[in-house]
Amino acid sequence: MTGMTNSVTLLPGGRADSKAASHPEPLTLGVMGGGQLGRMFVHAAQTMGYLTAVLDPDAQSPAGRVSHRHIQTDYTDPIGLKELAACSAAITTEFENVPAPALRELAKLRPVSPGADAVAIAQDRAAEKAHFVKCGVPCAPYAVIESDVQLEDAISKDLLPGILKTARMGYDGKGQVRVKDAAALRDAWQELKQVPCVLEKMLPLKLECSVILARGRDGQMVHFPVQRNLHRDGILVVTEVYAGHLTEAIQQQSVSAARAIAEGVNYVGVLCVEFFVLQDDSMVVNEMAPRPHNSGHYTLDACDQSQFDLQVRTLAGLPMTQPRQHSPAVMLNLLGDVWFDTKGTMRLPDWPAVLALPGTHLHLYGKTEARKARKMGHLNVTGANAAEVRAVALKAASILGIEAF
Ligand code: ATP
Ligand code: MG
Repeated sequence: MTGMTNSVTLLPGGRADSKAASHPEPLTLGVMGGGQLGRMFVHAAQTMGYLTAVLDPDAQSPAGRVSHRHIQTDYTDPIGLKELAACSAAITTEFENVPAPALRELAKLRPVSPGADAVAIAQDRAAEKAHFVKCGVPCAPYAVIESDVQLEDAISKDLLPGILKTARMGYDGKGQVRVKDAAALRDAWQELKQVPCVLEKMLPLKLECSVILARGRDGQMVHFPVQRNLHRDGILVVTEVYAGHLTEAIQQQSVSAARAIAEGVNYVGVLCVEFFVLQDDSMVVNEMAPRPHNSGHYTLDACDQSQFDLQVRTLAGLPMTQPRQHSPAVMLNLLGDVWFDTKGTMRLPDWPAVLALPGTHLHLYGKTEARKARKMGHLNVTGANAAEVRAVALKAASILGIEAF
């Protein structure tokens, strides 16, 4: 791990060395990136008495708009980075495409978690898969494609039909092309401008799940219950977490694989690991996200601590306890599509009808422009039992025009 060691505990409500002072000065926690994950981190940090600073170039960024301080520069701008380091006692990230060199620069000045090394692995699908293999966790059969020779070699490797994914900068299914045969693969690589890619074999999925864990600097790990996720068109649409949603075996295997993956990179912070469960019940890891994750948003309303609370705790070096889910939960993602009626006209979703349903918790990210496939918010549904939350979530989905699940 590069940079300075994160050995000081950053106490809520004041400086560690000013406990005796009558007016302790609140500490600032910084975050690289101003999206919705940053916004929910900011909310959690502020709840615990910290001030917050967000670095994001966008004046309207969801996190920048609710943070005490918003440094509006590019992620690599030396002046912006210096300013963030100057005002923050420690710094975290909210999206994996924050340039790793910027994190390395920050780490020279302040504790940064997760570290640049872990983020760099998650930023590159080839490095990420190599890390999984190193940790003894199987992933989908794949080949790295960076040249015509490697492309032809991949064709001979029984990876088709497959998905060609850009090695870097992909999210929500972007930068991915499904390819049936060798000709389609060659075309797809042209379409992706011959950037470094990974070709993954298309697997017969039974279901998808993910694990969110938090690991402290001392190596202590806690984790949330395993989430069951439904994706459509490469985007997460529903997460369900309640008794019986996944077998014990799947839950145990995914937790132990996620722990091995975190330990293998000496991870500090909140980490999400996504898995595929195949038709024959075997499991492979899909990818990891070095931050809180969309599939963990139910923790805001269904658990005694949220994934963002744990991000604050790991960053500040505070104690962690194993989180407990107190309510069965379903999370519906609110994509921009929900803002359009069946004729394609934009209008506000019928929030009063949704909020009239019991156990609904609406989270909107403050994005001004609704676009199709853009994550605008999410709706958590909690209740007394699984049947009840599913029934309410299905009613909400029907009101919002989200396809049943
Ligand atoms: P994220 O927003 O999670 O970062 P992403 O753009 O990195 O998404 P992936 O997680 O690689 O995309 O893929 C998105 C979805 O596409 C998966 O959740 C899964 O539903 C489907 N998918 C991806 N790879 C495969 C595969 N090898 N076989 C079958 N389905 C796949
Ligand atoms: Mg994914």
